[in-house]
Amino acid sequence: MDAAHVENDLVNILFTEDQIQERVGQMAEQIAADYEGRDLLLVGVLRGAVMVMADLARALPRHVEMDWMAISSYGSGTKSSGVVRILKDLDTDITGRHVLVVDEIIDTGLTLSWLVNSLGTRGAASVEIATLLRKPEALTMPVEPRYVGWDIPNEFVVGYGLDFRERYRNLRDIGTLAPHVYS
Ligand code: 5GP
Ligand code: MG
Repeated sequence: MDAAHVENDLVNILFTEDQIQERVGQMAEQIAADYEGRDLLLVGVLRGAVMVMADLARALPRHVEMDWMAISSYGSGTKSSGVVRILKDLDTDITGRHVLVVDEIIDTGLTLSWLVNSLGTRGAASVEIATLLRKPEALTMPVEPRYVGWDIPNEFVVGYGLDFRERYRNLRDIGTLAPHVYS
């Protein structure tokens, strides 16, 4: 789905499909350099990270494994509930593994600070975070992603995996949702 298909629902387009592909490619280059000579397990956070995981993994010029976790810290609206729970755990034993958690956005940091702590207790050799977007103004938990696509203002965005009530995930671009859609 293109922005033109949901034109009235967006107040602006923050990043186009092309810009996203370029930035993800740059992140992949950096990751490939940093993890040279080490095996790498990408852990995608369902469901939002599906698009960035697919593009980042394909942009990496090397072998990687992919696994998925589903974690819920949000209800169905635009505000965090403050509660984290595992909906789907990893299928992989991460003991001794180099884990790179791939997510699409860090908002308060609640989800990823909890997740990184949780993975750390499972004996991973290393746990780092790659996120396409980060909202520095919204951050309330100590999360230090090693790879960040862009810092963005504290606004609710959709597209490229990011949903509002399970819609807009298949939008190619990333945009700010118009208040009339959720008010
Ligand atoms: P955090 O735990 O960092 O507050 O939030 C993490 C999750 O909240 C993200 O992975 C994403 O699913 C959701 N989220 C945070 N900000 C946004 C946003 O602006 N738009 C959408 N669609 N989801 C968001
Ligand atoms: Mg997410």
